Amino acid sequence: MNYCPICGTKLNEAIVDQTKVEKCDSCGFIDWNNHTFVSCVVVAYNQQREFLMVKLKGQEEDKVTFPGGYRNHNEPLEEAARREFFEETGMTLHEIKLLDVYASESHRLIWVIYEGQIDRDVFIENDEVKSVFFVNKGTKIDESTLRGNLTKKLLMQVLKSTK
Ligand SMILES: [Zn+2]
Repeated sequence: MNYCPICGTKLNEAIVDQTKVEKCDSCGFIDWNNHTFVSCVVVAYNQQREFLMVKLKGQEEDKVTFPGGYRNHNEPLEEAARREFFEETGMTLHEIKLLDVYASESHRLIWVIYEGQIDRDVFIENDEVKSVFFVNKGTKIDESTLRGNLTKKLLMQVLKSTK
């Protein structure tokens, strides 16, 4: 960051709490260089207690992950989870609850993971997702198709708690 996002003054290098930061000498704003993206992800179950995964389109064609995406600035986390879930599946959810939070330092990414029950499991095709499928204990998934480490970690965790 070169300029203060609050007042627009050019930022200067400074040391605060033994950390190299960029500081605004005009209003005191500090850029800690620790910004992180927040993505809201949903583990969504059907009536048979199987959970939904998505097969992507576009740049990551055929990669498999859980539905979810970036939270908009100021958007409540739960709303972001529901919105992204709807955008990627066309489905809605009954009440949802927080399941876990993951962090990927290399991607500067936080996953806020919800779990919920699907209202009506009819997939509507969209720009991001090619198809969806339901997973239970017996489902074979080729690990090389998983989108990334967080997807892998969450899949392992959910499978462990699936009957
Ligand atoms: Zn400033």
